[in-house]
Amino acid sequence: MRFFTARFSLAMANFNTHLNGAFLISSTVALTIYKAGLIDDSEFLICVALGTAGGLLPDLDSDHSTPIKLGFDIGALVFAFGLVMHWRSTLSLVSLIVLWIAGYVFIRYTVFHVFTKMTVHRGVIHSVPYMAILGLGLTGLCYYGFEADLSDSWFYGLFVFGGALVHLALDEIYSVNLTGMRLKRSAGTAMKFYQHKDKWWYLLIYGVLALLIYAAPPFAPFVDNVSDPAHWQQLRQGLLPTLLETWWTHKG
Ligand SMILES: [Zn+2]
Repeated sequence: MRFFTARFSLAMANFNTHLNGAFLISSTVALTIYKAGLIDDSEFLICVALGTAGGLLPDLDSDHSTPIKLGFDIGALVFAFGLVMHWRSTLSLVSLIVLWIAGYVFIRYTVFHVFTKMTVHRGVIHSVPYMAILGLGLTGLCYYGFEADLSDSWFYGLFVFGGALVHLALDEIYSVNLTGMRLKRSAGTAMKFYQHKDKWWYLLIYGVLALLIYAAPPFAPFVDNVSDPAHWQQLRQGLLPTLLETWWTHKG
């Protein structure tokens, strides 16, 4: 059994594969929606960065604690700042300072504590619902906290989630060996939604996910915006190089 475990970990996609895979796919998708006029220049860069970062997220674990601690420090600051930005005109200065400290302490200590507990069960982080929480959380933070545009908020969250799905898919592909036979392993698939041995963690994860879905910014206007034919008309016009375009029109 040990033999299989060793072979399995060798068969998982490595850091570079994840970095390249997530970058390639997120930049292609970001370029497509940029050409369709759905995002501007800076949003394009943010989408690519978020998609690439998303592709690295599932492998985070507490063994590499420095970047994670740094991530939580920055995340806590950003979250607290977002809270203050959101309520800046309705709350008093003293309340805002209390809110700022409470928001920071909540992320840096409470959420960080739960996170480090969770990384002991690494499989819990390496899952579809956990990544959905990160994506939806980012969308909510951008929309409610930073009062970002609705479509941009959804794009940011979806890029993080999409990048993470690319990661899980790559692990899945790499876990199938050359003869096409799936290696026998007790861990289940890389693209996982639930594992019985971590049932309490999954209960917590799905609970948080349900809350986030309930509180999520409206989705329908985003879908309407993306499916607006004007955008896809614009993409079609920008699809081919001008020379080819001219030739095509003349031919037609
Ligand atoms: Zn992985």
